[in-house]
Amino acid sequence: MEDCLFCRIVAGRIPARKVFEDEEILAFHDINPARPVHLLVIPKRHITSLATVGDTDTVVLGRMLAVANRLATEQGSPDGFRVIINTGRIGHQEVQHLHAHIVGGPEPVGPMLKRI
Ligand code: 5GP
Ligand code: ZN
Repeated sequence: MEDCLFCRIVAGRIPARKVFEDEEILAFHDINPARPVHLLVIPKRHITSLATVGDTDTVVLGRMLAVANRLATEQGSPDGFRVIINTGRIGHQEVQHLHAHIVGGPEPVGPMLKRI
């Protein structure tokens, strides 16, 4: 996917502060962190969003969560963390390549949603 930002990061064409990589997953620091710990965990293979996953994606999805757990501990949020997967227009997904935000740090992250 030539025009996909996160595919370009996977390909090494855009730099990122990587914290983990294996054959199917990449994790790196969010460029605009919302909390002291703010990582993005992505599948290397292009999957547009959680709205497009199917049964063939369940292994990589599970691995993303297992990696998230380990990285949160390693990267400064050992006492819990939050995983956010913004999905589609309603979920306000800005980058159209599936990614899990891992947010945390030394203090609780606060209410999940603002009430409308
Ligand atoms: P979304 O709103 O799609 O769930 O979140 C996209 C995230 O990607 C945002 O938190 C944004 O800061 C992050 N982001 C956008 N462009 C880049 C980039 O070039 N590098 C990194 N590391 N993060 C990015
Ligand atoms: Zn992509």
